[in-house]
Amino acid sequence: MRRRLLQYLACPSCSGSLELSGITASDGSHVLEGQLGCVACHTSFPITRGVPRFATLEKLGADEAATAANFGWQWQHFTQEDKRYAEQFLGWIAPVTLEFFEDKVVLEGGCGKGRHTQLVAAWGAADVIGVDLSAAVETAFAATRHLDNAHIVQADIYRLPIRKVMDYAFSVGVLHHLPDPHRGFLSLASKVKPGGHVSAWVYGAENNEWITRWINPARERWTSRLNPRLLLHISKLPAAMVYLATKLVYRPLNRVGGGKLGRRLFYNDYMLAISDFGWREQHTIVFDHLVAPTAHYIAAEEFEQWWRDAGATEVSIQWHNRNSWRGFGRV
Ligand SMILES: [Zn+2]
Repeated sequence: MRRRLLQYLACPSCSGSLELSGITASDGSHVLEGQLGCVACHTSFPITRGVPRFATLEKLGADEAATAANFGWQWQHFTQEDKRYAEQFLGWIAPVTLEFFEDKVVLEGGCGKGRHTQLVAAWGAADVIGVDLSAAVETAFAATRHLDNAHIVQADIYRLPIRKVMDYAFSVGVLHHLPDPHRGFLSLASKVKPGGHVSAWVYGAENNEWITRWINPARERWTSRLNPRLLLHISKLPAAMVYLATKLVYRPLNRVGGGKLGRRLFYNDYMLAISDFGWREQHTIVFDHLVAPTAHYIAAEEFEQWWRDAGATEVSIQWHNRNSWRGFGRV
C-alpha cells in the first residue's frame, strides 16, 4: 500500500479517518506489513503483503464467500494478457473513452486480477483504486505495484472503505455476481463526489433466456460446486464447441454477403464479438459462466431503476452485444 492511498480511505464501519501504524515491512514505495487504525471507533485493519485488508472471506455469507473464492481462484489461475482487453473494456464502459481518465480519481468495484486497474493507471488517472473481496488481490497487487497511481484494496463492495471523493467509479462484470446487485451498485455510486460519474456493465435478462433456462440450473446445482480445477478441465468441452463455432461458423458467415447470413445466427452479436479471441480467452469466458454460484440477469427496467435510485442524471443505458447492459451517468 502506498501512503498516498490513505487520503482516499475511510473506516468502513464509521467513516472515520484511518491512521497508519505498526509498520513492520516496507519496500520504499509500499507499506507491506502494518496496521490501519480508525481514529474514531478504534477498529484496526491489517495491511498484509502490501494490501490493506478490510474484509476476509470468513465473515461473509456462504454464497458471497463461494463466489469470491471461485473467482479468486480463476483470476489467479488465468493471468494471461490479451491485447484486446483495452478494446473490450472500453466496450463495457462506453461512452467513456480513454481520454476521460486523465487526472481523475477512479474507483473500480471488483478489480479481480487488476487488468482494468492497470489500463486506467496507464491512461493517466491521477489515482485508481481497485477493490476486490477475493484472494485475486494478491495477483492484482503484483500486477500493479510498479505503477505509482494504482492501488489495491481488499474489501466488501457493500462496505467500501472509501471516502466520497471519487471522480469516477465503475464496475464491469461484477455486480451481477453479488447476492444483491442493486445494493452493490448504490454502494459504489455513493463513493462518487457530486458531479462525478459512474459506469456499470451487467448481464441482461433479455436475450439470455437460454442461459437462465438451460445453463443456470446446471451452474447452480453442479458446476459451481465442483472443485474449480476439475471444472477447468470439464469446461474445455463446451469451450471447444464455442471456439469452433466462432472460428468456423460465426466469423466466416459474418464476413460474406455483408453479414446477412451471420445476423440470422443464434446469439450472433456476442459470438462475433468474442470470435477474435484465442482459445485461452474463450475458455476463460465459458469457465466464468460455469463457476459462479450467484449470477443475476438484469432486465432493462430494473437496471434503469438503479440509476434513478442513485439519483443519477444524464444517464445513458445501452444494449451491449445484444445480451448485456452498460450504463453511464452523473451522480
Ligand atoms: Zn471507525
